[in-house]
Amino acid sequence: MSKGKLIVISGFSGAGKGTVVKKLVEKYDYSLSISATTRQPREGEVDGKDYYFKSEAEFRSLIDYNGLIEWAQYVDNFYGTPRKFVEEEMAAGKNVILEIEVQGAMNVKSQYPNAILIFITTKDVPTLRERLTNRGTETQDVINKRLARAAEEATSMESYEFIVVNDDLDTCVDAVNSIVVSESCKKENVTEFLIDIKNQLESLDK
Ligand code: 5GP
Repeated sequence: MSKGKLIVISGFSGAGKGTVVKKLVEKYDYSLSISATTRQPREGEVDGKDYYFKSEAEFRSLIDYNGLIEWAQYVDNFYGTPRKFVEEEMAAGKNVILEIEVQGAMNVKSQYPNAILIFITTKDVPTLRERLTNRGTETQDVINKRLARAAEEATSMESYEFIVVNDDLDTCVDAVNSIVVSESCKKENVTEFLIDIKNQLESLDK
């Protein structure tokens, strides 16, 4: 069985990554990695579904036991990707999505060079501010911190192989899926198939 791919999705806070990822899982057959975080749950967020909510001590022990593929500090909290789920799903041939910030994405790429890095953005900054404000889950102070972080992240955007504008949700979701499909068709990603089909043709009765 071929190994699944790792798809890393990052983007400015408020760019709608969460919605894009949810739709990708619903519409196409992706596995979604659930991160661990020390952030407090937002209203409606469920432990084990949206995140594994951890105390700082629990999070540190996950790091100590090599339980995370990567972790990073974002604004005032820690976030990290649990190792076991990702490795098991990929081994089973599933394409796994990580929805993580830029430091984590770079860290993943250095460990998994075949990971596909996709950056999601709004079409402009006023839309970003509007989405963060309309979400109503963050204080003005946190919104400002997230916008400041977006300004920092803009410099890392160029390290991503693919940039997708999330203006219309369905168009954005289909664009992300198309990227993954085209990557899977690259000849360097189908070498076993090529060898196999050549062997079959060579062994045909002449
Ligand atoms: P939020 O608090 O809005 O849920 O997430 C804040 C930021 O943390 C987002 O950019 C999100 O992509 C990122 N994030 C979520 N989980 C992880 C993770 O496991 N690792 C890293 N590096 N970033 C994460």
